[in-house]
Amino acid sequence: MSEHYSMYIDGKWIDTDEVYEIRSPATEELVATVAKGNTASVDAAVEAAKGAFAEGTWRRTPPAQRAAIINNVAERLGARADELAALQTRENGATIRITGALHVGLSVAQLQYLAAIAENYEWETPGPAIEPVAADGVVVREPLGVVAAIVPWNIPLLTTVWKIGPALVAGNSVVLKPDEHAPLLALELAREFDAAGLPPGVLNVVTGDGEPVGAHLSGHPDVRKVAFTGSTAVGKSILRQSADTVRRVTLELGGKGANIILDDADIDMAVDGALFACMANNGEACEAGTRLLIPASRRDEIVDKLLARASTLRVGDPLDPATHIGPVISQTQRDRILNYFRIAAEEGAIAALGGKARSGPEFDKGYWIEPTIYLDVTNDMRVAREEVFGPVLVVMTYDTDEDALAVANDTNYGLSAGVWGSEERATALARRLEAGMVWVNNWHIIHPAYPFGGYKESGLGREGGPNAIDEYVEEKFIAVDRSGGIENKAFAIVIDPAGD
Ligand code: NAD
Repeated sequence: MSEHYSMYIDGKWIDTDEVYEIRSPATEELVATVAKGNTASVDAAVEAAKGAFAEGTWRRTPPAQRAAIINNVAERLGARADELAALQTRENGATIRITGALHVGLSVAQLQYLAAIAENYEWETPGPAIEPVAADGVVVREPLGVVAAIVPWNIPLLTTVWKIGPALVAGNSVVLKPDEHAPLLALELAREFDAAGLPPGVLNVVTGDGEPVGAHLSGHPDVRKVAFTGSTAVGKSILRQSADTVRRVTLELGGKGANIILDDADIDMAVDGALFACMANNGEACEAGTRLLIPASRRDEIVDKLLARASTLRVGDPLDPATHIGPVISQTQRDRILNYFRIAAEEGAIAALGGKARSGPEFDKGYWIEPTIYLDVTNDMRVAREEVFGPVLVVMTYDTDEDALAVANDTNYGLSAGVWGSEERATALARRLEAGMVWVNNWHIIHPAYPFGGYKESGLGREGGPNAIDEYVEEKFIAVDRSGGIENKAFAIVIDPAGD
């Protein structure tokens, strides 16, 4: 029996005439049915969020109490961690070892971290006395209003809490639109916020397709901020759409992470690291290390080890803890990847492993791709420049560290990068890489206390980290003059900087 999920609007569970069928990408079995929202659902949710903000119960709740609700939700999710990880695996095919640690575990830790920083956050900062007007100044940080959060299917819960955690802790109201392929954990999260006592209308979850539902939400005139994770193309459209109302925007977009193995690296470790960097979450991770740069002087040794290790990767049932790689999310995604295989072949890349769909009786149902490694790739090929979003690694050789750096930075993206080698040399190179996150001798180090986000077309703004709440507040400067009388003294400060 599969469960039915309704949308969550104004504290109520709402259905429409239409439903989505969520089917496992591994088995095609029905996991759940979900109400399919429409633009009217968005209007109702924004209205509820706006009403809750105007009414003010949540934003006037002391920050420590808001933080307590966030902590309560973290605890509730933590208590259901195994169940939720399994549900995520059944819904989007990410392996159970990843959904347990990354999707659910890190989301719980992120909420706890946000609750902790909210308690010490400077909601008000008194400034120095302002002479000669004898004024006192204070900077007040207050919520923006209605925040729209739009998230993808690949790591749904973490990309959600990165947005709604700081938005809610700052006192905003939220309308969350999960991806149509993977809305279940967003609705489970709403269930836990409801149980934790969040007032109605403060968090709303609307399901629906990107077009028209997502676009209607991101363009809604009552939305003060859009926080988006997804493709670079949609991120750019949201940024353009937001110009009209000068709406705040945070974007977490695609990536093409360069992973550099230096010639003094521990090759066994670096090779395992390269596979982890690229193949974790079935290769469907924006921060994946999808371009492997290896020194020409050690090419054959590294390639031999890479292919030997890659051939031991277990592809199969994502609910089995021994599985490394599960299915990709959908038929469309599988076809998209197969199309990249055709393009790579046309461009002269050599598929030393994979390069095709996974076949065999176990793989008749679901959407399977062979873990794939391309050799002899050059950085102008489309497989080296575009995000494939599957278990596909391209390998390029370089001669000097400077060459490696130039190729690594020669990309429109700038989300993640990595360097393997002796610490001093690798760290020096890390400082010169144009990416929001650079890992030395590891990959996927994502931690609540450090920011996540990218340079260039990988995004705008950062999520998580110590400044996460700043992205969800307006700063207001209030000056109170106690000198009496208006004698243009305030302007004197500006026009006479020397103070004469
Ligand atoms: P997508 O952009 O198609 O969809 C993401 C979300 O946006 C979904 O909820 C979708 O319904 C919605 N959407 C689609 N069209 C829209 C529109 N016109 N207006 C408003 N909303 C719209 O992304 P995808 O291809 O399904 O997801 C994978 C992408 O997400 C990859 O490019 C990946 O790199 C990126 N991603 C980035 C990060 C990061 O933090 N940088 C994290 C995870 C995924």
